[in-house]
Amino acid sequence: MDSLFLRIIEREIPADIVRETDRIIAIRDINPQAPTHVLVIPKQVYRNAAELAAADPQLLAELFTTAGEIAESEGISESGYRLLFNTNADAGQTIFHVHLHLLGGEWLGGMTG
Ligand code: 5GP
Repeated sequence: MDSLFLRIIEREIPADIVRETDRIIAIRDINPQAPTHVLVIPKQVYRNAAELAAADPQLLAELFTTAGEIAESEGISESGYRLLFNTNADAGQTIFHVHLHLLGGEWLGGMTG
């Protein structure tokens, strides 16, 4: 079966779409962990960030550029935001179609607690 994100791209499942190009779609996370929580997703399926980086580094760069543009339009680029990829089981990756999380809009906590 197609990945959940492919079904969203094909409009088989609804989503709150923030931005879309021929190569990327960005949607609001259904279970947001911050006031802004957007998933930036390449339309081409790669299992995780490492596979994407190896196969298409330009597309990986486009995910970061797009996330920065969305942060700007969400009004959080100055206050700050976090970008992250969960990669495989120990990181809690649940959808094996690579996606960049954009989180912000409040204090997110520091890496050292
Ligand atoms: P992961 O844990 O794989 O890094 O992230 C998957 C993310 O997808 C989670 O933050 C989860 O809340 C989100 N998610 C799961 N199902 C849906 C859905 O049907 N729609 C949207 N918009 N997000 C989803």
